[in-house]
Amino acid sequence: MNSTNTFVNRVSTTREADPQAMLDLLQKQRSFFAAGHTLDIGFRKEQLQRLLEAVRSHEQELIDAMYADFRKPAFETYTTEIGFVEKELQLVLKHIVRWAKPQAVGETLLNFPARSYIYSQPYGVALIIGPWNYPLQLVLNPLIGALAAGNCAIVKPSELTPATSAVIARLLAQTFDPRLVAVVEGGVSTTQHLLAQRFDYIFFTGSTQVGRVVMKAAAEHLTPVTLELGGKSPAIVSEDADLGLAARRIAWGKFMNAGQTCVAPDYLLVQEQVKDELLEQLRIAIQEFYGDSPRHSPDFARIINDRHYERLISYLQDSVVRIGGQHDAESRFIAPTVLDQVNWQDPVMQDEIFGPILPVLTYTHLNEAIQEVNAREKPLALYFFSSDKWQQQQVLEQAHFGGGCINDTISHLINPRLPFGGVGESGVGSYHGKASFELFSNLKSVVHRGTWIDLPLRYPPYGNRLSLIRKVFKWL
Ligand code: NAD
Repeated sequence: MNSTNTFVNRVSTTREADPQAMLDLLQKQRSFFAAGHTLDIGFRKEQLQRLLEAVRSHEQELIDAMYADFRKPAFETYTTEIGFVEKELQLVLKHIVRWAKPQAVGETLLNFPARSYIYSQPYGVALIIGPWNYPLQLVLNPLIGALAAGNCAIVKPSELTPATSAVIARLLAQTFDPRLVAVVEGGVSTTQHLLAQRFDYIFFTGSTQVGRVVMKAAAEHLTPVTLELGGKSPAIVSEDADLGLAARRIAWGKFMNAGQTCVAPDYLLVQEQVKDELLEQLRIAIQEFYGDSPRHSPDFARIINDRHYERLISYLQDSVVRIGGQHDAESRFIAPTVLDQVNWQDPVMQDEIFGPILPVLTYTHLNEAIQEVNAREKPLALYFFSSDKWQQQQVLEQAHFGGGCINDTISHLINPRLPFGGVGESGVGSYHGKASFELFSNLKSVVHRGTWIDLPLRYPPYGNRLSLIRKVFKWL
């Protein structure tokens, strides 16, 4: 814990941005983009390098801001936000020149003589809207992709983390020409004003409910959109899993950021014979991580606001609390909590939990667990713990989910070479690393035809060439 900081128990007073100022900003970015400044790869690299230096030089400010917003531990702020962004920048800086080159693809003799390429071209001005739970990386990582691909961007951080939003606004203002990157701070009304404008790309991270609002607004202008949304991500534990290891890895993924992680295991689905042993291992893991009194642990964050706190503790009523359950409204503390004897109809199983409460359900046969998962909206992540390759294969083939891990939680986000995204209600599109570069690029397919010969076969009048052309299609 950073002793110099205070956790601010804040009452939200969102200030909305001036609509005319937003329009002016958008216009300036459009002109800057149209002038072609962002086409030069050297220019893009320079901007990304500046961002890397800015993130490094603002490290302590960012740690302090996230502590003030929801008492996020410095270790988690570094690993899941600052370090995470740095890794992405390092990867993109290393590969951008290669990614930005026209990519040659194989030829079809039907076009002979020709060469075919995919050209990546920036869209123009992108709008990036972020949530509060990872307030830095969820706006900066998309921004890295947007800049690498040569776009300008307006960034709208979450109003629920005002201290972090202010640091992001300052950091980006000090780093970039506002005609290239600008921050607009504000809440729902500001976001709605922005969404009413025509952008060339919209990248949204947040709830499924607001994702629908964003997609509707994008449809108005047929703007391409990426939606990184939420959902109920299961952790399934089979009878042959290493239960101690599974418990530690589930507790880590669930209670990091106090469970306020889009890819946190939302609920536990455990083979009935090993439930008691797994719960015992979870109790041990939680005790090892946060001690006898998690309230006093420096490594455990707080709930973002009173509304979410009230929503979360309502899940504790009429539930069988097997581990934890302690809570304190004033500091918005909810202990790492495990609920037993939960069934699919319970309120806690209806919506994404997004807090440190882990309901436990059981299954008898793996088929049944997969069917239960597939009977619901497709989750953003799925985690399966088992040492049996056949069972692993069964889950990977049959269950629908955005991405996930075998024998771990959350780690699929750590490798920037893996595209990250949801499916169905948990999201549209995926990003990170090269996938981000491609996401923010219009991939133009272009055929360069040779001019030294012009075979007449395709031109009218076709005469009796139909049988010949059939053969050509079959051979080539
Ligand atoms: P949210 O949808 O409430 O807010 C996200 C952004 O949308 C904010 O910037 C907010 O100002 C804006 N917004 C809110 N209501 C709006 C409206 N009616 N019209 C226009 N804009 C509006 O989400 P949140 O509470 O900040 O974040 C939590 C959600 O985000 C969870 O569902 C979580 O699973 C999801 N999430 C997903 C990912 C991912 O990568 N897939 C990552 C983090 C969070």
